Amino acid sequence: MGMLSTVHNSTDKLNNSLPGLAGNAGIVGAGGAGFPTHVKLNCTVDTVIANGAECEPLLHSDKTVMKLYADTVIRGLLLVMDATGASRGYIGVKKKEQDASAAMSRAAESDGRIRMLELESYYPTGDEQVLVYDATGKMVPEGGLPLDVGCLVENVETLFNIAEAVDRELPVTRRFLTVTGAVKRPAVVRAHIGTAICEVMELCGGSMTDDPVVIVGGPMMGTVERDLLSPVTKTTSGLIVLPRDHDLVQRKTLPLETIIKQAKAVCCQCTYCTELCSRNLIGHRLYPHRIMRQISFGLDAPEEIIQSALLCSECGLCEVYACVMGLSPARVNKAIKERLAEAGFKPDFSERQMLSGNVNAGTGQHPRKARELRDLRKIPVSRIVSRVDLSAYDVKPVGDVLETGPSRVELLLKQHLGSPADLIVRTGTRVDAGDVVGEIPEGKLGARVHASISGEVTIADDCRVIIQKV
Ligand code: SF4
Ligand code: SF4
Repeated sequence: MGMLSTVHNSTDKLNNSLPGLAGNAGIVGAGGAGFPTHVKLNCTVDTVIANGAECEPLLHSDKTVMKLYADTVIRGLLLVMDATGASRGYIGVKKKEQDASAAMSRAAESDGRIRMLELESYYPTGDEQVLVYDATGKMVPEGGLPLDVGCLVENVETLFNIAEAVDRELPVTRRFLTVTGAVKRPAVVRAHIGTAICEVMELCGGSMTDDPVVIVGGPMMGTVERDLLSPVTKTTSGLIVLPRDHDLVQRKTLPLETIIKQAKAVCCQCTYCTELCSRNLIGHRLYPHRIMRQISFGLDAPEEIIQSALLCSECGLCEVYACVMGLSPARVNKAIKERLAEAGFKPDFSERQMLSGNVNAGTGQHPRKARELRDLRKIPVSRIVSRVDLSAYDVKPVGDVLETGPSRVELLLKQHLGSPADLIVRTGTRVDAGDVVGEIPEGKLGARVHASISGEVTIADDCRVIIQKV
């Protein structure tokens, strides 16, 4: 395995500070969209929160990491606290996950700055803005970041990767993921980045359905992947194997045009999507029912209500649970966000903007705290599981973490937020596991990509590097 000293020598851009080491190691947020960690760590905060909530139904890999590698996760948390000047650390774990909670509590007990944060089992406890609220009682400003209230949230596997980079000079070449659904042996797998999804499924006994598709990620926020040769990436937290005709697959693959037509035709303005909206409940002026009403005028209308879609976390609660008509405010919001981003729209969430229609009808004030009914409107994960007809697959994997051993990997040059990595190897190059194959483009947001196995580069283009064991 190539060590980070090797990696470090290949560029002058990064250094030996914690952000530098995280950048060298190609660490990105393991729990979400893959924001490059070296950029996120460049800050000063008073609180760091280890996010072990793992609120997506059916996923178990974060809990497994905490149970098996509690000391490493705590080491990562302490490194981040030291680097950012934080005086407090929280570990967010669900109360019912007693093994993970006990392991983390034991590992943290000698450091008085770290406290356990026992979370209820509702969705989405792991949304970082929700987690910040639950940990500190502070509302992240609309359109803002936890940083705005002095907090930094890092997924527990990201913290594990940080400790591994610092203490063992290991770059990110593998990740933990849950393989579940219609497979013979649901398991937590430690997979080499770039392993084909079908190979990971085979490791778990293979599909139990004739025509499988896979939801990559969790059932709420994951996306449907039909090509089972697609590779595992740094952000693949789960593979949920389902029959192609499963309701969740049908729902997730409905074309946007159909969703919009349905919204215009049948949205009854019942407001349930707003009443249960996780961001609305922490006090943000996001009212999905109003957006659904407004889309008759177009997704890119320069309209305050339309712009409020930028506040949506895409948690999927409104779509999967709240809407009585089977509509998808979450998908509509996502489409609006994409269009506004393409148009280069810069949102302004100041008081002057977005005020129209979004003030409290009684007081005329923008709420500065969570809605009073928030506690009553939290949706237990178990209810979501049964609503989306996944109860049959809601099993805890038993047995050890399985390890992949691929002879071929496909490394995508974009596995993170920002620009794709610049290709730095050619077809025919021999690489060792851990060698850099993709570099952060000069002056851009991005993350390094490392070889996850040793072998020969058989394909190297703008999108990917394929390595074959020799
Ligand atoms: S996906 Fe729906 S419930 Fe979740 S934040 Fe967006 S509008 Fe609210
Ligand atoms: S829950 Fe569904 S039907 Fe009701 S307002 Fe929201 S989108 Fe419309």
